[in-house]
Amino acid sequence: MKRRSFIQKTGIAGLGVALSPLACAKTKALDTEFLILGGGLSGLYLAYLLEKEGRDYILLEGSNRVGGRMFTRKDINRDVGGKGIGDGYAEVMSLVQELHTEMIDITEYMNSPTAIYKDGQLHTTWDGPEPNPRMLQFRAFGKEKQLGSLDEWYKRPELDEAYSKVLKRNGLSETEIDLVNISANYNDVRETSAMNAYHSSAFRKYNTSKRILNFKGGTASFIESLVKKLEKPVLKNKMVVSIDDSGDSVSVTCEDGTSYKSKKVISTMPFSTLREVKMNASFNSKQEKAIQNLNYTKITQIHLTHSSPFWEEDGSPAAMWTDTPLERVMNLSSHKDEKQIACWVNGKGTAFFDKMSEKEVAEYTIKKMNEIRPASTGKIEYLGMQNWGKYKYNKGAYAEFGVGQAAWFEDMIKPASNIHFAGEHTAHMSRGMEAAAESAKRVFFELIN
Ligand SMILES: Cc1cc2nc3c(=O)[nH]c(=O)nc-3n(C[C@H](O)[C@H](O)[C@H](O)COP(=O)(O)OP(=O)(O)OC[C@H]3O[C@@H](n4cnc5c(N)ncnc54)[C@H](O)[C@@H]3O)c2cc1C
Repeated sequence: MKRRSFIQKTGIAGLGVALSPLACAKTKALDTEFLILGGGLSGLYLAYLLEKEGRDYILLEGSNRVGGRMFTRKDINRDVGGKGIGDGYAEVMSLVQELHTEMIDITEYMNSPTAIYKDGQLHTTWDGPEPNPRMLQFRAFGKEKQLGSLDEWYKRPELDEAYSKVLKRNGLSETEIDLVNISANYNDVRETSAMNAYHSSAFRKYNTSKRILNFKGGTASFIESLVKKLEKPVLKNKMVVSIDDSGDSVSVTCEDGTSYKSKKVISTMPFSTLREVKMNASFNSKQEKAIQNLNYTKITQIHLTHSSPFWEEDGSPAAMWTDTPLERVMNLSSHKDEKQIACWVNGKGTAFFDKMSEKEVAEYTIKKMNEIRPASTGKIEYLGMQNWGKYKYNKGAYAEFGVGQAAWFEDMIKPASNIHFAGEHTAHMSRGMEAAAESAKRVFFELIN
């Protein structure tokens, strides 16, 4: 049942948004037909589709750049967000073709070997009795009957249990589950719903990709060419702080005091930041719960570079799983001249680094890497870190359903009167960038029909 809700997180009042500007905005004429909130892939793709249809819109982006989680950090020359797409990602690939984006095939690099550092020992290969954490997970999870289609995951409430329970039922010990926790892209496999794993596994199976691709010149080059195609400029530094749906129109106010009025608003903002916006709108009760509580995976990346390939000296692969606070060490280079190494810390493990200054993170990382791989001494350098859990414009890397939360999905993506929802968290079928694009297409049809 729908009811008029007033969602406000404590602290928003401190941003100085009084209700009076909203009252004034109500008397204002419409600024546009559609107001898109968020200039990540979903917002930009929606703008592109609306423009092709000859419809008017204004796109408001809170930060000083476009792309959202597709983020090439120019200061460290690294892609720190979404980077890899499958050649079977229908929506993203159609855009890649329309924009004539050059891609690099990294399939071979994705299958590179990985070492493991556990209990103070570096194991170069996985040919011992102990399988690697990824295989441990896939072997155990693979024993469960998998889904028959891409959009089955949210229709099967009986699958909504802690992922660790499924792993345990299929033979993993608590110690093995701890190891899986390092390699699985979740906050904590003991709290996350197994539905995330069923959905990911179905997406891997049915999206038909044979190759993994990266955008040549970084994700920013793709985003920039998409923005160049748009006739209207994206309005940046427009941090939305309030949304007021009067029933006839919607007024949106930004942190800089400006306000915009439109017939419809499309929020592509993650729920992790939408929950900080003062809202007066007709949400259904599950939607309201989801906006307030949907979990987001915390990821902290520590980016390194190297002066020479130290792994050629010690004979172990550059990439490793470790049981140290560095968790996974990834070799993100897509050709031999690239020097991209990153420590990738997930979920609860990010708290270890949250307590440190950046200088301390840098010192700790280099010291630990040298301890694990003495051959790296004097050959690696800290570049920078990206803390997605704390990043103001996302507060998490991606939506992750906790146990019980997937039951909100179908209601949380429904239009709430004049407010529509797009963004990766709202896709029925896909994951990642393809989810962002899929959701934009869905909302496009909601708007024009
Ligand atoms: C570390 C990492 C690795 C990833 N790896 C992959 C991968 O390899 N492959 C893959 O397919 N996907 C990957 N993804 C996921 C992919 O990047 C995202 O699913 C996709 O980019 C999300 O697009 P979006 O438009 O839904 O959201 P976003 O890109 O987050 O866009 C939302 C926008 O809203 C803006 N915003 C937020 N709050 C406000 C506000 N109050 N007012 C105005 N604007 C606001 C934000 O600044 C942002 O620009 C990864 C993500 C991360 C973080």
